[in-house]
Amino acid sequence: MSKEFEGKVALITGASRGIGKAIAIKLASLGAKVIINYLQQDDKAQQVLNEVSALGGMALLKKADVSDSAAVKTMFSEVKNELGKVDILVNNAGITRDTFLLRMPDNDWDAVINTNLRGVYLCTKQALRSMIEKSWGRIINITSLAGLLGNAGQSNYSAAKAGIIAFTKSIAREVGALNITVNAIAPGFIVTDMTDKLPAETKDLILSRIPLKRFGTPEDVANLVAFLASEQASYITAQVIGVDGGVV
Ligand code: NAP
Repeated sequence: MSKEFEGKVALITGASRGIGKAIAIKLASLGAKVIINYLQQDDKAQQVLNEVSALGGMALLKKADVSDSAAVKTMFSEVKNELGKVDILVNNAGITRDTFLLRMPDNDWDAVINTNLRGVYLCTKQALRSMIEKSWGRIINITSLAGLLGNAGQSNYSAAKAGIIAFTKSIAREVGALNITVNAIAPGFIVTDMTDKLPAETKDLILSRIPLKRFGTPEDVANLVAFLASEQASYITAQVIGVDGGVV
C-alpha cells in the first residue's frame, strides 16, 4: 500500500527532541524521507534516526543552527545532494529565555528572536527556492499560544511567535499561486523538555484552564502537521490553528 508522503522530502527543524521528534517520526511513518535538524544533542538526534529506521523509514541528521545564515544554506544544499529537494518544511526549532522585561539581558532577547524568528525566515527562504521549481510545497510553522495572547515573562518569545504568525500569512500570500501552502500551528501546553522546567504551581494553574483536562502531547501536534502537509489540506493556507485543549 502506498503511503501519503512517499517520494516527499521533509525537513523538520529542532527534531532531536519533543514536538519536532514526534513530527519527524509521524511524517516518516507516512513515507516521507525526513531530515532531522538539531543544534547540539547528537545522541538524542541519533535516537530519532534509529526510531525512524526501525519503522523502515529513511532519515538524515543535519546539525545546524537555524539562526546562522551560512549554516542554513549549507544544510539545504547538502540535503539537495543527499536526499533531494525539500517538499515539506516544518519550522519547529525554538527556545525560551523567560524573564520580565526589565531584567532581560539583551542577549536573551536576541537569542530568542534569532532562533525562533530569524530561523524561520532563513529556512523558509531556502526551502521556497526548490518548492517553486516543483510547484508544490508545504510550510508549517510552529508558533505558540503566547504569540496570540502574549505572556508575562515571555516578551521575547511572544514577540518572536507573533512575528511567525505575520510571516506565515505574508508568505502564504506571496506563494499561494505556486501551489505552496503556508500555515502555522499554535500549541498550548505540550509535555516536552521546554515545559518540564516550569514550576509545579504554574503547571497546575495552566491545567485548571484546559477544558480537555490534560496537557498536550507532541503527537497531538504531529497529527496536525501530517494533515496540513497532506493533499487533503491543499485548500488551507495562511491559517493559524491551535492545538491547546481549548485553553481559556
Ligand atoms: P524542546 O523540547 O526544547 O526542543 C527544542 C528543539 O529545538 C531541540 O531539538 C533543539 O536541538 C532544537 N534547537 C534549539 N535551538 C536550535 C537552533 N538554533 N538550531 C536548530 N535547532 C535548535 O522544544 P519543544 O517543546 O519540542 O518545542 C518545539 C517548538 O514548539 C518550539 O518552537 C516551541 O516554541 C513550540 N511550542 C512548544 C510548546 C510546548 O508547550 N512545549 C508550546 C507552544 C509552542 P538540541 O536537542 O540539539 O538542543
